[in-house]
Order: sequence, then C-alpha cells, then structure tokens
Amino acid sequence: MRILIIEDEEKLAESLKKGLEKSGYAVDYLTDGEAGQRRIEMAHKNYDLVILDLMLPGKSGFEICQAVRKRGIMTPILILTARDMTDDKILALDNGADDYLVKPFSFEELLARIRALLRRPPETLASELTAKDVVLKPTEREVYRGGRKIDLTLKEFELLHYLMRHPGEVLNREDIYSHLWDFEDNSFSNIIDVHIKNLRKKLQDQDEKNRLVETIRGVGYRLRK
Ligand code: CA
Repeated sequence: MRILIIEDEEKLAESLKKGLEKSGYAVDYLTDGEAGQRRIEMAHKNYDLVILDLMLPGKSGFEICQAVRKRGIMTPILILTARDMTDDKILALDNGADDYLVKPFSFEELLARIRALLRRPPETLASELTAKDVVLKPTEREVYRGGRKIDLTLKEFELLHYLMRHPGEVLNREDIYSHLWDFEDNSFSNIIDVHIKNLRKKLQDQDEKNRLVETIRGVGYRLRK
C-alpha cells in the first residue's frame, strides 16, 4: 500500500514516513498544499490513502479535499487537525474526508485508522482475503496456505495483499511498483520479479499450470480467482 502525506511540519512528516515504512507502507510526503493537490490530481491512482493536514501553506486541507472530490477522485483521505474543534471535524467530513485525527495522536492510533480505511469497500470488506487455499489477514499481517502459516517479509506481504485485492485483474509491473515502492527507492528494475519469485517459493506456488500468481508475459502478473 502506498500513502501520500501532505503535512507542512516536516519533522512530523518525516517521522510518520519512517514509522509507516517500518510497518510496510510505501510513503511520499509533500509540505505544500498546492503541490499536494496537484500530486493527488495527477497520481491518485498510485495511492491507496492520503493523510492530509488542515493548515497548510498554499491551500488548506479543506480546499484540497473539496477540489479532489469534485473531480471524482475517491482515494480515502485521513485528515490531521491541530485543533480539537468539532466544527473542523464536521467541515472536514462534509468536504469529503473519510476520517480525522486530532494532533497530537499516538502512532498506534494512526495505524489503526489507516487499517480501518484500507479495509473499506469495495475490495476488502472482509477482515480476511482468500484465493484458492490462501488466506490473508490484513490486520494480523498473517498469511496461511492450506492452513499452514507462511512467513513473509513486509514487502512480500504487501505484494500478495495488493494482488489479492485485485483478483483476476492483470496488474502490470508499473502498477505494482507504484503501489509498493515510493519515489526515493532506487530499486533495481527486476525487483518485482524477484519478490514474486520469493513469494512463490514460500507459498509453494511453483507448479506453472496451477499457479495462484500467474505470469502474464511481457505485462505483469495476475492472481487467479
Ligand atoms: Ca500544518
């Protein structure tokens, strides 16, 4: 999952990025309202969630929220507000935000809110995802195949999670890359293939004819339903 943070307190943005990356998310941040709105408008398909501060230089969080919703962009937005004012919260939700958090907040609470937002419909109403005999539990970050627990690295887990959120869809390498890695990663070009290979090994998904994760030659990958 990839998250965009728009927050002008750079220290806070930086520490959120670090914390969220430790939890397996790919994170970019911007410190200016106008640049933030532009990023959402241009690249919202790459992001699974936006964390948006209300008081920003350039444009306020309210304005950004309203503008992107008006364009039909439905990426979940979690508002950060420094002021514990009921009016702000109502205004944020009325302007199309999905949730809000009052500063200062605990990192654990932020993680819980993020998980809740990412669980929302349409793709993931259920608390677990299944494909063939593979079960993935997003909250517990656990994966089972045929009842046996599989130990995955954070990136392998995120990769499988992304595939399982889009069963039957052909996902090209650019899509996968943009959801799992941020701009600062100087990863080598075959990183996705390497992760898929490791994932298959761990899932014992080697039998080409009956694979859960199918290779679409020259394009990318598809999770068989
Ligand atoms: Ca601010």
